Amino acid sequence: MTQIDRAQHHSEGPLYADLAGDLNVSFEFFPPKTEKMEEQLWSAIETLTPLAPKFVSVTYGAGGSTRERTHNTVARIARETPLAAAAHLTCVAASKAEIDEVADAYWEAGVRHIVALRGDPPEAGTAFQPHPDGYKGAAELVEGLRKRHDFEISVAAYPETHPEAQSAQSDIDNLKRKIDAGATRAITQFFFEADSFFRFRDTVAAAGIDAEIIPGIMPVSNFAAVQRMSAMCNTDVPAWMGRLFDGLDQHPAARQLVSATLAAELCRNLYMGGVRDFHFYTLNRAELSYAICHLLGLRPQVAAELMA
Ligand SMILES: Cc1cc2nc3c(=O)[nH]c(=O)nc-3n(C[C@H](O)[C@H](O)[C@H](O)COP(=O)(O)OP(=O)(O)OC[C@H]3O[C@@H](n4cnc5c(N)ncnc54)[C@H](O)[C@@H]3O)c2cc1C
Repeated sequence: MTQIDRAQHHSEGPLYADLAGDLNVSFEFFPPKTEKMEEQLWSAIETLTPLAPKFVSVTYGAGGSTRERTHNTVARIARETPLAAAAHLTCVAASKAEIDEVADAYWEAGVRHIVALRGDPPEAGTAFQPHPDGYKGAAELVEGLRKRHDFEISVAAYPETHPEAQSAQSDIDNLKRKIDAGATRAITQFFFEADSFFRFRDTVAAAGIDAEIIPGIMPVSNFAAVQRMSAMCNTDVPAWMGRLFDGLDQHPAARQLVSATLAAELCRNLYMGGVRDFHFYTLNRAELSYAICHLLGLRPQVAAELMA
C-alpha cells in the first residue's frame, strides 16, 4: 500500500477526533514595515508561542531590502521569547563579505539557525544575476555559512519543481547539493494537494537524500493573491479550490472558515501519510495556523515547559 493509498484508507471516520498532537510545528513570519504591522506580528507570536514551535523563522525581503528589519525581528525573538529563532538569508545583491557580516551579526545575537536561500531577483520576471563577488546559489551559501559558524541550516525544496530548474531531476540534484553542503532540513514551497508532497518525498528518498523534508503550509486568506503567488512559484492551484473560494469575496469570516478547513484537511492527509513536522506560512496572522494546529491535536504548553 502506498502512502497515498494509506492516507485515503485512514480518512474513513471523523477526521479530527482525538488526534495525539504528536507534531513539531514551526511558524514563518515576515519583518514588519510599520508600527501597526509590528503590533500584529507580536500579537501573532504571543498567540503561537504556547504551541511550543520547534522554531520560528523570519523572511528576508527581495534584494536584501529587509536586512535591518529581519535582523531586529529575529534578534528580538531570540532575546525576549523562549522560541528558537531562525533568520532567512539570501544571496541577492550582496557580496560574500557582506553576507558573512550579516551571518556574524546573527551569531553574535545568539541566533543559531539560518534558512539559506538564493532569493529572487529584485525585479519580478528577470533572471537571477549573482553579485560578482557573491554566492551563486543556495548550495554555495550553505557551504559559506558552514565554514563560518556552526549554524543549523535549513534550505528550500520544491515539490512541484522550482520554476527556473532545467528539470525536476536537476532540481532534486540541487537539493542534494544543498544537503551535502551541510543543511540539515528542507522546508518546501507551499502546495495544495498532499499527493504532490508524497510523490516528492519518495523522489527525494530515492535520490538518497535523508534530511528531513518539512511541508510548508500556506493557509489561503486571500485567494486572488495566492493564485498570483502560485503562478510565480510554479505551485498548482487545483480547479476545485477556485470553485470553493468563488463567491466568498464579500464574506471574510466564511472565507477564513473555508481556508482553515482546507489547510487542516491537507495537514490531516499529510499526517496520515506519516508527516509529523509542519511549517506554517503565517503571514503574521496567528488564527488560521492556531486553528489548524488545534485540529491536529496540538495544545498549549505551560510556561515552565516552554522555558525548559
Ligand atoms: C521555505 C522557503 C522560504 C523562503 N524564504 C525566502 C525569503 O526569506 N526571501 C526570499 O527572497 N525568498 C525566499 N524564498 C524564495 C526563494 O528565494 C526562491 O524560490 C528562489 O527563486 C530560489 O531559492 P533557492 O534557495 O531554492 O535557490 P537554489 O537552491 O540556489 O536554486 C535556484 C534554482 O537554480 C537551480 N540550480 C541551482 N544550482 C544549479 C546547478 N548547479 N545546476 C543547475 N541548476 C541549478 C535550481 O534547480 C533552482 O531552479 C523562500 C522559499 C521557500 C521554499
